[in-house]
Amino acid sequence: MIDYLKGLNERQKEAVITIDGPLMIVAGAGSGKTKVLTTRIAHLMAQGVDAFNILALTFTNKAAKEMKERVEHILGNHEARNLYIGTFHSVFARILRSEATKIGYPSNFTIYDTDDAKSVIKTVINEMNLDDKHYKPSTVYNRISSAKNALVNAEEYKNDWHIQQEDMRANRPAIAQIYDSYAKRCFKNGAMDFDDLLIKFYELLKTVPESLSKYQRRFKYIMIDEYQDTNPAQYEIIKLLGAMHENVCVVGDDAQSIYSFRGATIENILQFQKDYDNVHVVKLEQNYRSTKNILNVANEVIANNKGQIEKTLFTDNGDGEKLKLVRTLTDNDEGKFVADTIQEQKLRNHYRNKDFAILYRTNAQSRAMEESLRRMGIPYIIYGGISFYQRKEIKDFIAYLRLIVNPRDEEALKRIINYPVRGIGKTTVDKCVLFANEQNISMWEVLTRAQEYGFKAGTLEAIDNFVTMIRSFASMLQKNNAYDVAVHVGKQTNIVKELFNDKSTEGLQRYENTQELLNSIKEWVDDTANRQQIDDDGVMIEEEKLFDEPEKPQQELSFDAAPAQTEEQKKLGAVTLGAYLQQITLLTDADDKDPDADNVKLMTIHAAKGLEFECVFAAGLEEQLFPSALSINTREELEEERRLFYVVITRAKKKLWITYANTRYKFGQIVQNEPSRFLDELPEQYVDKSYAGGGLRNQSSGSSFGGGSAFDRMKGGFGNRNNDYTDVANAEKRYGAPPKANTSKPSYATPPARPQTVEHKPAAD
Ligand code: ATP
Ligand code: MG
Repeated sequence: MIDYLKGLNERQKEAVITIDGPLMIVAGAGSGKTKVLTTRIAHLMAQGVDAFNILALTFTNKAAKEMKERVEHILGNHEARNLYIGTFHSVFARILRSEATKIGYPSNFTIYDTDDAKSVIKTVINEMNLDDKHYKPSTVYNRISSAKNALVNAEEYKNDWHIQQEDMRANRPAIAQIYDSYAKRCFKNGAMDFDDLLIKFYELLKTVPESLSKYQRRFKYIMIDEYQDTNPAQYEIIKLLGAMHENVCVVGDDAQSIYSFRGATIENILQFQKDYDNVHVVKLEQNYRSTKNILNVANEVIANNKGQIEKTLFTDNGDGEKLKLVRTLTDNDEGKFVADTIQEQKLRNHYRNKDFAILYRTNAQSRAMEESLRRMGIPYIIYGGISFYQRKEIKDFIAYLRLIVNPRDEEALKRIINYPVRGIGKTTVDKCVLFANEQNISMWEVLTRAQEYGFKAGTLEAIDNFVTMIRSFASMLQKNNAYDVAVHVGKQTNIVKELFNDKSTEGLQRYENTQELLNSIKEWVDDTANRQQIDDDGVMIEEEKLFDEPEKPQQELSFDAAPAQTEEQKKLGAVTLGAYLQQITLLTDADDKDPDADNVKLMTIHAAKGLEFECVFAAGLEEQLFPSALSINTREELEEERRLFYVVITRAKKKLWITYANTRYKFGQIVQNEPSRFLDELPEQYVDKSYAGGGLRNQSSGSSFGGGSAFDRMKGGFGNRNNDYTDVANAEKRYGAPPKANTSKPSYATPPARPQTVEHKPAAD
């Protein structure tokens, strides 16, 4: 038998070797779904399928990277690097780079992150003379995002009676118009937001037949992990791509569907069987991850949900210890308990830091945990939180780089046009934006033709100097590598020097962060150069370059001063920098660079999807928090919260502590909490409740929650529920900012090598 099939159970083997036709693997947590997917890729390649013909979509970039490494390991060669594998967003962004011109975008389009997108929306709202306190940019953004993920474009949005009624009821009738202006503004800026990466790709497939057939032909085999969380846009894309060969393999668990607020529905799983004839269905029922006690608890908890696909899950693993339910007086005590327990377990059972994960419902809960861990000197790493690339000094620096790659990027331009101060004030900027809007040209173009707009002599000179400077950076990029250009930009603009001269602790940290950014660019450039080496040896084929040539030159984009580039030069600068910027924008929370570092991991349950740890703390099992106050108004919402509880339980291999506190700081006040209703569902048989004291609730609290307007709780779009755990800025507003110290370095992902222990320096912003 082939080596990689050894050790798989019969069902797993069946799933791996069934390579032709639609295949659906539905199975519970820890049953080897991801393992099967990885092995199946290796098997396909071992059967002679070209890696270029395989598309695999994963939940995080990290998962993709691990899969690639495992496939390489199995096959003993480097072919796996040619797989199209990654998150929906990163794979589609990569394809769009070469196809964007076909739908009117420049190939060097910018990707707007959530902050950029909200900022554009705010601009639009202000330009429409609407009140941005009523039309809160984040609310509007969520609404637009929901529409996009449901494949509703601005036109359809405006013309849909039901949607309009919904907006009227919510007293926000202008959203249709904001959506329209926002979409046009992004297009003019040569920019796509995260959701655009899906819907523009969809648009490409729908409207450009040769692109559709190109990618249909290319992707002979398509595989999707965590299928239960795909949204309608992703679903439709897969359907289109898979239509030619129908070799689509989806892997999912309806009990772990935890993103319905983003438009993901478990209907996908059910629908799959209707979309294709002869779907081969494989159910995996043996769990290899957890002890019997843990699995029994998970099974009993999820049985309380009504809507489920029937399946059983068993394990041959030992019973293990009973789970422990622990009550503490305050959230700080909860943190202390966790830190003490980790210390004790390390001494007693020889666990290492990396064997522990602390998982919670909202990012704000990390504060108390962090304080205790720090006090005990236990190194930890936080996923999520404010990422390195969201810091002000980093965003400023990156804005220069973005602008020289895509001068139409208005967000980047506005950010740095007067940073550092160079005499181009707000009035001038407003005028430029106005002129640009009036003439439907980019703000950059207004600047390059500033003498036509009647600016005062001093302003004109300042603009002129700025334009000349940016052009010189751009032309430098044609001849030098991205790192040298970035260093030059830092020097020439004085931004680095300014931070260097600020001798406060924060200033020092900011300065160090800019150095860290430069390191990461350096590393990226070196990596690219190495890959290039391999290209030269003939391993990579033409099509595989990250950035294909645009179909036709983008006249309006080019810097007039820039000389024509050779292929080689492009690779040196612009392409490498463009690829770098794309990569850092598309990092997900869980894309930490070093999962093996010996530190305790802290993250939301959402971020922990698909992961496993020896020992898990499920923290904050309190009413209002878990289930979230915003998710207890319908059975569907509550069932989704219960699925989250199922997810957290099933992350644990050996030991699980479930903790809750009587009181907790919230909005700067002490709030009393009842124990979560989910605790009532924990079977005594497998759970030691003695640590919980006598106060365990014995009745359901009903819905005592009165906060948040109906509008805020509305599902399907307006809901701010996702802000709780995916939107840091909003979570902070809700629950208070995380402590200053240490949202620090380790919480971001990617290139540079950095210390594995946490440095307890104050965060930069
Ligand atoms: P989740 O639902 O959490 O995503 P999953 O179904 O994807 O889980 P995997 O992560 O693939 O499950 O596997 C869970 C664990 O069980 C992993 O550590 C994996 O290596 C192990 N495992 C899976 N199948 C086998 C097997 N046949 N023999 C031994 N270990 C296995
Ligand atoms: Mg998995």
